[in-house]
Amino acid sequence: MARPHGAGAVHLPGAVHAAWSAASAGDLRPVGHGSGDGAALVAFATAVSAPTGASFDEVAWATQVHGSRVVDVIRAPQTVAPDAVACRNLGEADALVAVSPDTAVCVLTADCGPLALASPEGVFAAVHAGWRGLAAGVVEAAVRQMRIRGATDVSGALGPCIHAGCYEFGLSELDAVADTYGRAVRGTTDDGRPALDMVAGIRAALDASGAALVDVVDVCTACGGGQYSHRARGDAGRQALVVWSTPGVTP
Ligand SMILES: [Zn+2]
Repeated sequence: MARPHGAGAVHLPGAVHAAWSAASAGDLRPVGHGSGDGAALVAFATAVSAPTGASFDEVAWATQVHGSRVVDVIRAPQTVAPDAVACRNLGEADALVAVSPDTAVCVLTADCGPLALASPEGVFAAVHAGWRGLAAGVVEAAVRQMRIRGATDVSGALGPCIHAGCYEFGLSELDAVADTYGRAVRGTTDDGRPALDMVAGIRAALDASGAALVDVVDVCTACGGGQYSHRARGDAGRQALVVWSTPGVTP
C-alpha cells in the first residue's frame, strides 16, 4: 500500500510504530557524535510517539557510512534524569536493531531510503538504505540481525526517498544493482534517462530475505516538496525516521 506523507505514525506488527519527519520539522541531525545534542531529534521523536503510548527514554542513532553494518542496541545503564529522553550515538552503522520499548531507533536521510522493520515479536529496526548500502546488503543484514534477536515474520515500511523519476543513474552502477536485485530496479527518469528505482531495490532485498515491504510513503524527496534532498538541491539538512515499540509484546 502507498500512503501520502504526514499521516502521523505508521503502525506495524509487534506494537511497533514508525514516523518520518518532513523538512518543516527542521534539520534533525544530532549535533556532535558521542553523546550528541539531539534536542530537535528528541523533540520530534517524543511528539510523534506520544499518541501511541510510547515510553522510551533514549533515541539511538548511528554515524551513517553507506555500508552494511548493523548495530544491535543494548541498553546502557540509565544516566538521564527521570522523564528525560537521551540521545545516544552508537558509532558507525547504517541500521539499528532493538527489542525494547525503552529505546527508539533513528536514521537520518535526505534521498536514501529510510526503512522501518518490525516483527510480531516486537523486534524492530531502522535502516538507512541508499544505493551503496542497498548494494552492500544492509537490508538483508538488518533482517538477519532481527532474526537473531527472535524475529520471525519481518514487515517493512519505507518513508520518503528519491524516486526513479528524479534519480538518473550511471549504467554501469545500474547494471551492478540489477545483477543483484533484478530488472525491477531499472527505472526511467521523467525525461527518459536510465534511473535507479530504489523502492523496487529495497522491495527486492526484503523479498530475498523472506520479508515483505507492506507500506510505502508515496513521496519523492527530490520533487515532492517538503523534504530535504541532497541530490536535487544539495540540502545539508536531514529528515529522520524514528521507530519504537510500545509495551505489551515480549520478544
Ligand atoms: Zn521526484
